[in-house]
Amino acid sequence: MTDLRFIEVAKTFDIMERITSRTQLTLALVSLIKKTPPEVIDKLVYLIQGKLGPEWKDIPELGVGEKLLIKAIALAYKVPEERVNSLYKKIGDLGSVAERLAAEYKAKAKKASLAAFFGEEEKPLTLSRVYQTLIRVAYAQGENSRDIKLRLIAGLLSDAEPLEARYIVRFIEGRLRVGIGDATVLDALAIVYGGGIHAREIVERAYNLRADLGFIAKTLAEKGLEALKNLTPTVGIPVRPMLAERGRDPAEILRKVGGRALVEYKYDGERGQIHKDGDKVVIFSRRLEDITRMYPDVVEMVRKHVKANTAILEGEIVAINPDTLELLPFQVLMQRKRKYDIHRIMKEVPVAVFLFDMIYRDGNDLTQKPLPVRRENLTQSIDPSDTFQLAKHIYTSSPEELWNFFLEAIENGAEGVMVKAIHEGSIYRAGVRGWLWVKLKKDYKSEMIDTVDLVVVGAFYGRGKRGGLLSSLLMAAYNPETDTFRTVCKVATGFTDEELLRMQDMLKPHIIPHKHPRVDSKMQPDVWIEPYFVAEILGAELTLSPMHTCCLGRVRPGVGISIRFPRFIRWRPDKRPEDATTEDELYEMYTRQLRKVEEAA
Ligand code: ATP
Repeated sequence: MTDLRFIEVAKTFDIMERITSRTQLTLALVSLIKKTPPEVIDKLVYLIQGKLGPEWKDIPELGVGEKLLIKAIALAYKVPEERVNSLYKKIGDLGSVAERLAAEYKAKAKKASLAAFFGEEEKPLTLSRVYQTLIRVAYAQGENSRDIKLRLIAGLLSDAEPLEARYIVRFIEGRLRVGIGDATVLDALAIVYGGGIHAREIVERAYNLRADLGFIAKTLAEKGLEALKNLTPTVGIPVRPMLAERGRDPAEILRKVGGRALVEYKYDGERGQIHKDGDKVVIFSRRLEDITRMYPDVVEMVRKHVKANTAILEGEIVAINPDTLELLPFQVLMQRKRKYDIHRIMKEVPVAVFLFDMIYRDGNDLTQKPLPVRRENLTQSIDPSDTFQLAKHIYTSSPEELWNFFLEAIENGAEGVMVKAIHEGSIYRAGVRGWLWVKLKKDYKSEMIDTVDLVVVGAFYGRGKRGGLLSSLLMAAYNPETDTFRTVCKVATGFTDEELLRMQDMLKPHIIPHKHPRVDSKMQPDVWIEPYFVAEILGAELTLSPMHTCCLGRVRPGVGISIRFPRFIRWRPDKRPEDATTEDELYEMYTRQLRKVEEAA
């Protein structure tokens, strides 16, 4: 058997929806992966992620709105659209509507079908058929595409079992809601194909170097763990970015990175991971999306100024004033995102690129080399210009010098500085936030020196003017070890009226009937929300709270760490929930704040 019956996937999703612990979630996935032939494991992994492939692969959107989906359901089950609509109003979930209509349709068809009379079985759906059909839906473009999409989906649905129909419809809507993050998939793959959870590290490292979970799963399933051990970055597939811890005190930061360090401006722009293969240039964002289209000018710069034939470089793309070369804030750069006429906006919002790392050069994997070696390769590989150059930097072991450089950076329009280890062990740790890089950012003129990025896990209805609206959000920090989200605060201020209204529609598709298995909360919000949205939050200070689970018991038994007077600053669509501020970071921030208070006393 080289395929998997889709009903196995649907049954597992159904079980997962009711699971409330992460361990059980992993076990359910383990048992599904065990049933899946290696040939199709990649497809399974993508579908679980709610996608048809990795983000960076330019697979078109499915392009199926609610209206078209309703039409397809009606067509598949031979009922009028009004029936689908009225059921949808009643049940509130199109997946369940399809499931119910499929059941009715099957019952009728069975009576009428000769095949059933003679005891013959219909041909069951397979994982590959579902996947391939969805791919065809995505690639149906142009004139008759609406009709083609309609027929493809209706065809699939009419052959589906009721439970299968539920998940096909939900997948198309982009709301699978089974709650599996990459970390759970990595665990399950290690258990099934790596011989146990101890293999997790190797699987994760491979994934960090080649951000394509389907490819990693298939390589592991077909070629084994050794093949993953030998994996290197490859031009064209994004490497998961290395990230920084945050620091506050220059002397302490220098101690943490091992004394002498490379200190660079922390530019306030967009991270670009630049892949070059001859004349072909691709740029990936921090979230590993292909953003090449937004930066045709950067593509030209790379062609002109990068001497290496094949290369993976990293730098920050920053909006600048072309006359003075002054750095402009992130908000200015973001105008590029909104505009369609990229060639015009390119002139209105000119950019510069400040390079800070090199991961791959002419066939050589540099990730295992210390930072000074990577920098040397970077220097040798480029012909710098005003708008395409190395990040401004110094080497120092002096806290004073670091502090002065930090002040200079801020004055010149940077956010602060990045302090980077340069010892033998200063390798490129793909996908890892660690103490090899430490960021020192500008003070926000408040007790809480830095904003945090938290994940929405629940919401409460407002009163008075905000009656009936979800107007207060339960926010959580991430714990990468347990892959769980633990609550920090409720945030209700900082939203404009407009923002609040927009938020209702935004949250609705992500409401789930019970607490998400990866969420750890003592509070009971009015509605639970799957971890999906990340928001930047600023507060007055960090406090201890018996109501929240973040760092529960770490400072004192029975209490966690919370934020006083939290205020919504903005959404961070560029971050996934797993990129949110971690529990450890909040703990660090809390102890730092304590020290500050003690020093002042
Ligand atoms: P933040 O929320 O502070 O913007 P982040 O969570 O996106 O940061 P961090 O690891 O905290 O990621 O900070 C690293 C980010 O800073 C990088 O992703 C990059 O976009 C940006 N950056 C700017 N200048 C540099 C530099 N010289 N070296 C590394 N990263 C830099």
